[in-house]
Amino acid sequence: MALDSKTPKGPLKDKWTSYKNNIDLVNPANKRNIDVIVVGTGLAGGSAAATLAELGYNVKAFAYQDSPRRAHSIAAQGGINAAKNYQGDGDSSYRLFYDTVKGGDYRSRESNVHRLAEVSANIIDQCVAQGVPFARDYGGMLDNRSFGGVLVSRTFYAKGQTGQQLLLGAYSAMNRQIARGKIEMFNRHEMLDVVKVGGKARGIIARNLITGEIERHSAHAVVIATGGYGNVYFLSTNAMGSNATAAWKIHKKGAYFANPCYTQIHPTCIPRSGDYQSKLTLMSESLRNDGRIWVPKNMEDVMAIREGRKKPTELSEEERDYYLERRYPAFGNLVPRDVASRAAKERCDAGYGINQTGEAVYLDFKSAIARYGNEQAKLKGINNPSADKVYELGQAIVEAKYGNLFQMYNKIVDEDPYKTPMMIYPATHYTMGGVWVDYNLMTTVDGLYCIGEANFSDHGANRLGASALMQGLADGYFVLPYTIGDYLSNDIRTGKIPTDTKEFDEAEKEVTERINFFVNNKGSKSVDYFHKKLGKIMWEKVGMARNEKGLKEAMAEIKAVREDFWKEVKVPGTADEMNPELEKAGRVADFLELGELFAKDALNRNESCGGHFREESAETDGPQKGEAKRNDDDYAYVAAWEYKGEPADAVLHKEELEFNDIELKQRSYK
Ligand SMILES: Cc1cc2nc3c(=O)[nH]c(=O)nc-3n(C[C@H](O)[C@H](O)[C@H](O)COP(=O)(O)OP(=O)(O)OC[C@H]3O[C@@H](n4cnc5c(N)ncnc54)[C@H](O)[C@@H]3O)c2cc1C
Repeated sequence: MALDSKTPKGPLKDKWTSYKNNIDLVNPANKRNIDVIVVGTGLAGGSAAATLAELGYNVKAFAYQDSPRRAHSIAAQGGINAAKNYQGDGDSSYRLFYDTVKGGDYRSRESNVHRLAEVSANIIDQCVAQGVPFARDYGGMLDNRSFGGVLVSRTFYAKGQTGQQLLLGAYSAMNRQIARGKIEMFNRHEMLDVVKVGGKARGIIARNLITGEIERHSAHAVVIATGGYGNVYFLSTNAMGSNATAAWKIHKKGAYFANPCYTQIHPTCIPRSGDYQSKLTLMSESLRNDGRIWVPKNMEDVMAIREGRKKPTELSEEERDYYLERRYPAFGNLVPRDVASRAAKERCDAGYGINQTGEAVYLDFKSAIARYGNEQAKLKGINNPSADKVYELGQAIVEAKYGNLFQMYNKIVDEDPYKTPMMIYPATHYTMGGVWVDYNLMTTVDGLYCIGEANFSDHGANRLGASALMQGLADGYFVLPYTIGDYLSNDIRTGKIPTDTKEFDEAEKEVTERINFFVNNKGSKSVDYFHKKLGKIMWEKVGMARNEKGLKEAMAEIKAVREDFWKEVKVPGTADEMNPELEKAGRVADFLELGELFAKDALNRNESCGGHFREESAETDGPQKGEAKRNDDDYAYVAAWEYKGEPADAVLHKEELEFNDIELKQRSYK
């Protein structure tokens, strides 16, 4: 079945405006009679909950952490994009739209991306009004920096803590509504299923994570804002609690899951150090504004560094291979993430990785420190400054820009990155795939919406840096409040949705049975044992490079791990208490299904695009040799999967992508 995106008719630039002018509205008195459930209170859910409550709806918001402030959005470091053109460097909403469609390797929906670019500037105004302390330049204007895949500076930031500051803004807006009684906040509650009545989403089943109590909550519409599924790889830059359970549960109840194979492997993370690690740490992409990436040119130097006989700082410029600058002169170190990650892998696969595992490259600030130091010396009128003085002045500038990131690196690796280059390697970071939604952000289930990283999003096959925060906040502050109103205008006479019905009975029974299974199963292996096994298969066979043989093996291996999980998993403790192992068991059970669908989707997509690199589909000749080869004739569609029991049996539905305003081209950053 072909999927209808419900994109409005008319010229691209007018679609959103005319849509807003023509939808049905709910009057303020009627909004008071309508309930909305928002699951997840990160940037997407928090901004949606606050805005819907401000509009007058009764909102029930859920999060598994003890406060919305702890959502994984807090970890976002580098910044948020907006087409304000404060720099006067040629930016516009069209250019942001264009960069995003191109950056996503022409696998996103034009109308959504254009809308995103249009509302991007409003987000910054909204956040400034909330008091978000964005960095400012000397003149007091909001400052901007550059992220990968673009030729302008459009990234607004608050040091290396942009997500935290934005989240505090959204959280303040929520708190105002919590105080007014318009948002009822359910911290430490995990949604374990959606309840459908007459085909429409009308509620959820949630577990109180402190008491273990299973609760029923009803509403006229349900919004899922539960973040991405990067932890399907076990190791990722995501928070350890980040999970796919809500998204997967709604998939099982009829919401199609789109493009699961589009995953972003971020090029600048601290390399893995051993088998007992539970998490990876990102070094923000903003560092690529000033850091230069390299490996030694000569194998002897690689070996000498690995064996501790040489330090990287001893290598002259001629002995270094700044491979991104060499291969991509136009974009240099600021090529998009997928391109930078593959280039690091290529060098490390060729043997040039500089740490013990052979999986690390350098990110070096030597040139930036010297450049800033000399500039500062001039500004301060210091003639013939000593090398030490230049270093001191330059370090101060780098510290002001990225200080907290350098400190974090120093604490984790125990090396001073001002003095010796950082070691970095790609790691799983973000998921472009997710729950399929139409232009209204509604899933294939009526009244069930999905926003933020949890939906299949506007980023196509690869997300550009600083665009996730933009999308989450666009969805929550500026898009959903309109689109959901149009739907809810049909519910003004519905009245409260009762929870003492067979639909709620059945959903609660299913949830309870599964929990009871876990605590009663007489298995012998921990949940993490299975999660690590899944992660290893995903990284090795469904990671940065994929091929038909590996993907078929991955599907069979994941299925086998899943079967073993249901026999052998051991969950200590009981169901009626706080039980983190029980929480993890449910989440890993869902990852074990999602992982197989992920591999199936990657197998189906026999082209390379964005973060999805099929080894069978690479350029073999010419200037693009070795680069990804897209196949627009056969794969210019969104792959949306319908649940049919086993992940291997999922049925493919295609949303054909139309490009009327942008010419499909080979993506080149050379
Ligand atoms: C280290 C790091 C740095 C990043 N830096 C940037 C950056 O600089 N710029 C940028 O644009 N993007 C960045 N990103 C990406 C960006 O931070 C995320 O994509 C974005 O914050 C996701 O927001 P969200 O609201 O969709 O989900 P989250 O912030 O993940 O929130 C999910 C919410 O759902 C809740 N939840 C989940 N499951 C359930 C359940 N079953 N029941 C109840 N509640 C549930 C959680 O409690 C939480 O409240 C970064 C990501 C990482 C990992």
